[in-house]
Amino acid sequence: MIHQLTPLTPEQREIQQAARDFALTEIAPHSAAWDRDQHFEPALVRKLGELGFLGMMLPESLDGLGLDTLTYLVALEEIAAVDASVAVMVSVHNSLPTQMILRWGTDEQKERFLRPMARGELLGAFALSEPDAGSDAAALSTQAVRDGDCWVLDGTKAWVSSGTHAGVIIAMARTDRPDNRRGARGISAFIVTPDMPGFRVGKKEDKMGLRASPTVQLVFDNLRVPAANLLGQEGQGFAYAMQSLDNGRLGIAAQAIGIGRAALEYSLAYAAERRQFGKPIADFEAIQFKLADMAKGVAAARALMHATASAKDRGEPVTLAASMSKLLASETAMSATREAVQIFGGYGYITDYPVERLFRDAKVTEIYEGTSEIQRVVIARQLYAGTRHQATPPGGVEANRIGIPR
Ligand SMILES: Cc1cc2nc3c(=O)[nH]c(=O)nc-3n(C[C@H](O)[C@H](O)[C@H](O)COP(=O)(O)OP(=O)(O)OC[C@H]3O[C@@H](n4cnc5c(N)ncnc54)[C@H](O)[C@@H]3O)c2cc1C
Repeated sequence: MIHQLTPLTPEQREIQQAARDFALTEIAPHSAAWDRDQHFEPALVRKLGELGFLGMMLPESLDGLGLDTLTYLVALEEIAAVDASVAVMVSVHNSLPTQMILRWGTDEQKERFLRPMARGELLGAFALSEPDAGSDAAALSTQAVRDGDCWVLDGTKAWVSSGTHAGVIIAMARTDRPDNRRGARGISAFIVTPDMPGFRVGKKEDKMGLRASPTVQLVFDNLRVPAANLLGQEGQGFAYAMQSLDNGRLGIAAQAIGIGRAALEYSLAYAAERRQFGKPIADFEAIQFKLADMAKGVAAARALMHATASAKDRGEPVTLAASMSKLLASETAMSATREAVQIFGGYGYITDYPVERLFRDAKVTEIYEGTSEIQRVVIARQLYAGTRHQATPPGGVEANRIGIPR
C-alpha cells in the first residue's frame, strides 16, 4: 500500500486484506473480459454477500458487519483498485439504499429488505436521476398518485446503476399535485421491487467506461407500489436523497482513489521494466515527476477521505468535506490515469494493458453523484453557510447575491 497515512486498527487491516484477497482472486481474472463484454456477473453478488461486503455498515442484528464508514471505505478502495464496475455496485448498495432504509425505514421494512440485502440475496439501486433531471434533480417529473392502499407511479428514471439486477430500488417520485407543486418538498422516496406490476427495465446505456456495471432506464408504467413501501415521510424523499449523498460521495471518492492507486501501481511497475535509450524509462526525470505527482494526489485524496469518514463516524456533519473528498479524488483519478496512459506510451492506448480501462473508468467519477461543477457549487454554498465574518466588499455586493444556488 502506497502512502496509507491513517493508522488502521488490526480489525480494519483484516477487512482490508479480506477485500484485497477477494478482489484479486474472484474479480481480477475476469475484469478485462467483463469490461469487453459489458458483462455483469450475478454470482459475484452472492459471493460478496456471503463475505459481508454487501452489509458492511448494517448492524450485526440485521446480518450486517456493523463496520464504521472508514473501514467500509478502506475495503471499497481495495475492490475499486481491481475493478471500478464492481466497486460502483458495492458502493451504491452500501452507501445509498441500505443506509436509507436503515435510517428512515420502518421496522417491518428493515426486516423485510435489509437482511436479504446484507446477505447478497437482494441487490440495491438508487433511482433519483431522470432523462431531463440530472444536476437539477429536484426537477424530476415521475408522478406518484395515491390509489387506495397503493401509490401508482408513472415516469422514467435514468442512469440507474445495477438497474438490470436490482431487487430493491429506492426511487424518488413526486407526490405533490400538478396544480400545487411544492418543489423539492413535493418529492417522496419509495421502495420499489421489480416484481411490482408496471415495472420495466428500459434502455441499457452503452458506456465509455464502467462497462461491466449495467446502467439502465427504469420505466414505471402505472407501477403499483404498496403504501407500506413509502420510505419515511411523504414529501421528504429529496431531503433523504441529498443527505444520503454524503455517504454516496464518500463511496465514489473511494472508488476514484482505488482507480488512481491502480494507475500508479501499474505505472511504477511498467516504468521500471520498460527500457528506452538503453535504460528503464523510470530513470527519466520526466517520468519520475509524473509518478511523484500521481503518488502525491492519491495520498492526499485518501487522507482527506479518511479524515472525512472519521468525522462522519464521530457524528459530525460532513456535507462540505464529502464534496471536497469526492471532487479531489475524482480529479486525482482522472489525472493519474491520464499520466498512466502517457507512461505506457502506445501500449497505454491498447486493451492489452489495463491502464486504458482505468482511464475510461476514471472519467465517470467526475460526473455521477454530482458532477465536479456541482461539487464546487455545494462546497461554495457550504463555505458561505459557515461564514461568520460579514464583510461588505466595495460596491456593497452581498455574499448571497453572487448566484450560488441554495
Ligand atoms: C455511469 C453512470 C451511472 C449513474 N448512476 C446513477 C444512479 O445509480 N442513480 C441516479 O439517480 N443517477 C445516476 N447517474 C446520473 C448522474 O448522477 C447524472 O448523470 C449527473 O448527476 C449529471 O446529470 P446529467 O447527466 O443530466 O448532466 P446535466 O445536469 O445536464 O449537466 C450537464 C453539464 O452542465 C453542468 N451543470 C449543470 N448544472 C450546473 C450548475 N448549476 N452550475 C454549473 N454547471 C452545471 C454539469 O456539471 C455538466 O457539466 C449515473 C450517471 C452515469 C453516467
